[in-house]
Amino acid sequence: MVDLHVHTYMSDGQHSPEDVVSMAWAKGVGLLAVTDHDAMDGLDEAEAAARRLGVGFVPGIEISAGAVGDGKLHILGYYVDRLDAALLRLNAEFARQREEREDMIYGRLRDKGIIISKERLRRNVKGRIVSRTHFARVLVEDGHAADFADAFDRYLSEPEMDRPKVSPERGIALIREAGGVAVMAHPSSLKMSHADLDDLAGRLAGMGLMGMECHYCSYGREETGRYAAIAEKHGLAVTGGSDFHGERVKPRVEIGTGIDGLLSFTDEGIGETLEKLRGGAGGRSAPKKGFKPIEA
Ligand code: AMP
Ligand code: MN
Ligand code: MN
Ligand code: MN
Repeated sequence: MVDLHVHTYMSDGQHSPEDVVSMAWAKGVGLLAVTDHDAMDGLDEAEAAARRLGVGFVPGIEISAGAVGDGKLHILGYYVDRLDAALLRLNAEFARQREEREDMIYGRLRDKGIIISKERLRRNVKGRIVSRTHFARVLVEDGHAADFADAFDRYLSEPEMDRPKVSPERGIALIREAGGVAVMAHPSSLKMSHADLDDLAGRLAGMGLMGMECHYCSYGREETGRYAAIAEKHGLAVTGGSDFHGERVKPRVEIGTGIDGLLSFTDEGIGETLEKLRGGAGGRSAPKKGFKPIEA
């Protein structure tokens, strides 16, 4: 079993990097990628745990790119250099923007009569990232929301609370220049028709995209097959992952198997494929010329 998309408490996940690896191992995951939002802080700990337990490990990151059409584009970066200066600068800048947002959210909640102290919120922040999930946890603990989804619905979904983003071009280039493999995450969230997604995938491939997450926690075989056809057409590697965050954050999503066992990604050779893509021809080369920039 392969899971190339999980989060830890270094971004908006619930569990430590070590615990996430242990949970994956216990479920029989043989190849695991940790892909925190805008953060690589959990990778060393996760990698050490994976080595101890004999789980194959792929270091990763997930970056949010700007809205594309009605949907959103998230880009996974596999095998990125954890010390890459440009990527670390981006993460630091995003962390700073999230701190500004944090102050704004206290204010919005105060307007609704809910007082959360910074000290209280920060008790659960383990990495550099202050996520809306940290607010959701306190809102649930204090009885203002029934669960995380309810907390988001009621208090945390204002447009200006969205997290910081890069353009698709820049996101792909940053990952590629950090020696990584750029992969489109959960293509369903782009909310595109098959034809439009096909077109976008072609353009992103021209910018250096190398894979597509065709297997996902909520995709059935038919949906996975549709994305895989697009991936194949554009020479993109077929990847897959659960997007596990922990049962408190996303209660139905299990590591390795997704929602109700829908995720079934077993291609253990994908690790080698990604390593080749990262190091091989085109792995570190500039994006192909001649692509049309997309409006983001
Ligand atoms: P942030 O990155 O801090 O803006 O928070 C967004 C994160 O919160 C997403 O990456 C999801 O993991 C999580 N999230 C978003 N919507 C919901 C929801 N309705 N229920 C639970 N978690 C959510
Ligand atoms: Mn998340
Ligand atoms: Mn995502
Ligand atoms: Mn994710």
